[in-house]
Amino acid sequence: MNKAPDSSIIDNLCDALRCLPGVGPKSAQRMAFHLLQRARPQGKLLAQALSSAMDKVIHCQRCNTFSQTSLCRICDDEKRDKSVLCIVENPNDLIAIEQTHGYQGCYFVLMGRLSPLDGIGPADIGIDKLMDLLRSESIKEVIFAINPNMEGEATLYYLSQLMNPLNLKLSQLAHGVPVGTELEFLDSKTIKRAMKERNAIEA
Ligand SMILES: [Zn+2]
Repeated sequence: MNKAPDSSIIDNLCDALRCLPGVGPKSAQRMAFHLLQRARPQGKLLAQALSSAMDKVIHCQRCNTFSQTSLCRICDDEKRDKSVLCIVENPNDLIAIEQTHGYQGCYFVLMGRLSPLDGIGPADIGIDKLMDLLRSESIKEVIFAINPNMEGEATLYYLSQLMNPLNLKLSQLAHGVPVGTELEFLDSKTIKRAMKERNAIEA
C-alpha cells in the first residue's frame, strides 16, 4: 500500500490496529484516519481505556474469566451455587448464559477450545487449572456449554474423559443450540431452554 510521506506515527497506529480480529491493512488505515480526522477526543479515551484494561484486567483465580480482582463477581457471590460448574469457551458465552437469568451455578472459562490445527492443545485452555478446581472443591455437577462444532465436540470429549474418574454428574446443553452456532449469537430464550434440558454425557 502506498504510504504518505513522514507517516511513521500513522503507520505505527495502523499496524497496532491490525491486531484486532478481521482488521486488514485497509480497514486499519480507515480506522486510523477516522480517529485522526473526526474523533480525536474519543481516540484519546480509547487509548486510555485500552491501556488501563491491558494493565489491570487479570484472570479470576477460580474460574479463569476476566476480572479486575483475584476473584470475579460471580465466584465471590455467596448466593451462587458453588457445587455446579458450567464450562464455557470464552467470557462472551458466560455473559450470554448470565443474560438468561436462569442459571445460579458458577463457571469455568477455558479461553478457547482444543484446536490441533491452530496449535491449541490442552495446556492452552486452562485444563490444569480446571482439574485443580474440581479436585479442591466439592463440585458435584459439571455442565458443558461448549459450542457444538467439531473442535467443541473434541474438547468436550477430551474433558469428559479426564473428569470420568472424579465421579461427577456430567451434562451438556441440550440441542436447540443449532450446530455450528456460537453461543454469543443466540437469543436468551434458546440458551435458557438448552440449559434447562441439558443432556447427561455417557462415559
Ligand atoms: Zn471467577
